[in-house]
Amino acid sequence: MKTFRLISLGCPKNTVDSEVMAGLLMGKGYTPVIEPGNYVDVLILNTCGFIETAKEESISRIMEAVEAKETGKVGKLVVAGCLAQRYPQALKEEIPEIDILFGIDGVENITDFLAGESSPIITESPTYIYSHKSPRAVSTGIGYAYLKIADGCNHSCSFCAIPEIRGKQRSRPIEDVVTEARALTDDGIRELILVAQDGTSYGRDLGLGNGLSDLLEELDKIENVGWIRPMYMFPGKITDKLLDVIASSTKVCPYVDIPLQHSSGSLLKSMRRPGDSDSYLRLLERIRERIPGVYVRTSLIVGYPGETDEDVEQLLSFVKEARFHHLGVFTYSREEGTPAFPLGETVSEAVKLERSSVIMEAQKQISHELNEKLVGQTLEVIVEGISEETDLLLQGRHIGQAPDIDGVVLINDGEAQVGEKKPVVIEQALFYDVVGRII
Ligand code: SF4
Repeated sequence: MKTFRLISLGCPKNTVDSEVMAGLLMGKGYTPVIEPGNYVDVLILNTCGFIETAKEESISRIMEAVEAKETGKVGKLVVAGCLAQRYPQALKEEIPEIDILFGIDGVENITDFLAGESSPIITESPTYIYSHKSPRAVSTGIGYAYLKIADGCNHSCSFCAIPEIRGKQRSRPIEDVVTEARALTDDGIRELILVAQDGTSYGRDLGLGNGLSDLLEELDKIENVGWIRPMYMFPGKITDKLLDVIASSTKVCPYVDIPLQHSSGSLLKSMRRPGDSDSYLRLLERIRERIPGVYVRTSLIVGYPGETDEDVEQLLSFVKEARFHHLGVFTYSREEGTPAFPLGETVSEAVKLERSSVIMEAQKQISHELNEKLVGQTLEVIVEGISEETDLLLQGRHIGQAPDIDGVVLINDGEAQVGEKKPVVIEQALFYDVVGRII
């Protein structure tokens, strides 16, 4: 009986590919080994490779695996995912200890590659996307599961290497997604998180004008489906129809994840992205008008070539006025093959980090003030288990919190099973988390 361990790096889109690979291996009788340190016949690294920090982490995990192989803890070393897709030649030449290396289009052939029945592949522009027929070993517990509705991207944001890595957008047909959603719900999954590079472009390659809102309406019809959380919305593609579908559903979370990247009109133009501070504030107003009590998440980039102190001042006042519930800041990573690469670097790493912490310091206060507003309210919470901070507390999420990237609800009193939804009265607000007891 062969054993395998799979390390999944990067974004939820990669997590789903990892779960499909695990499902295929288990279908062939391989046994998963969770704990590091034990001998495994096969170690799979599903890598990330879109920005410098992600590449560095993937490389260091590969080197750890090479060491484990040299000390007899690993039989075969398999490297897949975005770093493999982006730098196949360099990886093969510089790390000959890698036994099997393949790109995005090789996900469903992993067992053939291991059996030597076919040679690992790297295709120029990947077209692979799984379906409800793909065996999948969900790795995120019963609290939630990611539902990848599309992969690839047709935008050309100047800083972004993802279109080059993951290929053109390809959406799964609505029926295919709904069939999988039913199966996950029947398995007890409490929340479905819809992921893609750009969720709001879902279905356009299938000729659907309002693909995402059509899909949400179909998912909403699934009787015992829990929360439905659409992620990754593109600012220029948020229709009133979509907002109304979210607002009128009891299952679709009042949650809008809309990476804006910046608020300066001239920088956004250079980034090949729409909008500016004023149009984004109007967009937020429209979202908040149509979806009462909506939670809004965004992500921003600081240090993009040409960014001035004034741009950051303006971004800071935009963040203070916009009052996002959740916000992440990335420092610009100059990536070869992207349209912005020829612009070089005009902001030092130290200044990028300084700008990022100025924005995050402001956001910390805003997040705390918005959490304060929840004190005294009773919220429905999906309980996910013992808190990561202390085993004296349980941990869960309310409808305004996505897993891994947003704050959590720390529960200091009451009992619950993992995956259960419980009413929790919020008693205390922390910077990102809130504390409450089950009633
Ligand atoms: S929308 Fe832009 S930032 Fe997002 S994956 Fe596509 S090109 Fe990259």
